[in-house]
Amino acid sequence: MRAVCWNGKTDMRVETVPDPEILNARDAIVKITSTAICGSDLHLYNGFMPSLKKGDILGHEFMGEVVELGREVKNLKVGDRVVVPFTIACGQCFFCKKDLWSLCDNSNPNAWMAEKLMGHSPSGLFGYTHMMGGYAGGQAEYARVPFADVGPLKIPDGIEDEKVLFLSDIFPTGYFGAENCDIEPGDTVAVWGCGPVGQFAIQSAWMLGAGRVIAIDRFPERLLLAQTWGRAEVIDYEEVDSVLDVLKDMTGGLGPDRCIDAVGMEAHGITLDARYDKVKQTARLATDRPHVLREAIMACRKGGTVSIVGVYGGLLDKVPMGAAMNKGLTFKMGQTHMHRYMKPLLEKILNGEIDPSRVITHRLGIDEAPWGYKTFRDKEDDCIKVVLKPDFDGHGHHHPHHGGNGAEYVA
Ligand SMILES: [Zn+2]
Ligand SMILES: [Zn+2]
Repeated sequence: MRAVCWNGKTDMRVETVPDPEILNARDAIVKITSTAICGSDLHLYNGFMPSLKKGDILGHEFMGEVVELGREVKNLKVGDRVVVPFTIACGQCFFCKKDLWSLCDNSNPNAWMAEKLMGHSPSGLFGYTHMMGGYAGGQAEYARVPFADVGPLKIPDGIEDEKVLFLSDIFPTGYFGAENCDIEPGDTVAVWGCGPVGQFAIQSAWMLGAGRVIAIDRFPERLLLAQTWGRAEVIDYEEVDSVLDVLKDMTGGLGPDRCIDAVGMEAHGITLDARYDKVKQTARLATDRPHVLREAIMACRKGGTVSIVGVYGGLLDKVPMGAAMNKGLTFKMGQTHMHRYMKPLLEKILNGEIDPSRVITHRLGIDEAPWGYKTFRDKEDDCIKVVLKPDFDGHGHHHPHHGGNGAEYVA
């Protein structure tokens, strides 16, 4: 089969590799019909995550058709259409039983690696380093899905892939970020980062009762989507002297009640602390660049909540814990407990409450994935979200594909 393989920093290649096979009785093989490149894949692309190996297949946002089942998977049939959650969970351990799916104790065969870094291991993830299980990802024609009796969500016929694909990660993740804010009716919610997860956090903040949403980014196309689709007030942080001052002014000195960091470890910034992070990270003196987290802590109103859904990998420097402690902030964070959210959020899509395909700007054949990675990383061509379709004819033969938010891509 064809698959998108990591071959080193910023070196993605589409290679022919062996088809996956059933290894365990609870496995399924899914023929992938749609898959996406995620902002967190860019941390891999940019070489910021340890324990990738040459030839690893990336991708954790995918859906498709079940083509083969292990003998213990009774709830699915060959031919079923499914969306697969990016976190892998057994459904039977202490954590799965507590509804904490992304903390499953049985799905990371390389738990020892994660334990060294974090004390304990989170769940395994598709296509996301050997430390997270070394599972082949879904940017491919086929994928093996472990614990297929627990994870994959069946999708009814008659609704197109693009509307449901993001149940695999970014819609539940944005929702989780907003839910973790414990929004009270009328609250002002500030969202750092208007990438796809930020967009879904904005949508979800409204669903959960926000009175006002303020979104912060620097890319015009993302701010525009936040403003139009997301009905958010927006701040272009490159156009203002101080995001903190602007947020204070906008909230009568109080600060936003709830702050969501939808950026994570590779925050870009123009402030002194952001430049300092870049130097330290380049010199390998720190692993992450937490500029956004610092700003969220400083901006948040006293007694408010800071919710983190942007991915952090390791050690953060100069995080103002003094401010967080003395202002009585609540922190909530984590990888999304996917299995908790997929079904209820599918209902919202089916009843027309939200059309997740609005974030898609680029639709590519799988052979165009390396171009897709670069374009998404560099935010060129107004790129917000790339969907790969393995069954597109991807041999340099391009068609114009109409973007969900009005953008049009012609190569
Ligand atoms: Zn993702
Ligand atoms: Zn489990």
